[in-house]
Amino acid sequence: MSATDPNCIFCKIVSGKIPSRKVYEDDHVFAFHDIAPWAPVHFLMIPKLHIPSMAHVGVEQAGLMGHMMTLAPKLAMQEGCNPYPEGGYRIVLNTGMEGGQEVHHLHMHVMGGPRPWLKG
Ligand code: AMP
Repeated sequence: MSATDPNCIFCKIVSGKIPSRKVYEDDHVFAFHDIAPWAPVHFLMIPKLHIPSMAHVGVEQAGLMGHMMTLAPKLAMQEGCNPYPEGGYRIVLNTGMEGGQEVHHLHMHVMGGPRPWLKG
């Protein structure tokens, strides 16, 4: 696994080669609005390192994954999700072809806002 993949669309988003609507950035992660949102709030959070999928995550990534999981609720509220329990949000990590993963750079979907949603 290399740090970045020059052919990866999400690596290009991290480097700014492809524009995105940024939600959040720190040394380890980048979050941006999904280009085809399913819900009123729909953003993706990705590691800056090119990790292809959850199938590539080991104990070395426990800190990174914990960081993403604990950040997601804060960013969800920041982006307009309503408070738990009447509100809330959905966190999804599609993995592999049968898991519905289309972009092979690990990404966490965070979806929320008033229903009905376009999908899901
Ligand atoms: P998945 O099916 O889990 O791999 O999700 C990939 C997601 O990336 C989809 O929801 C796409 O709409 C989204 N996506 C693809 N290209 C871009 C882009 N350039 N900017 C923002 N979101 C994108």
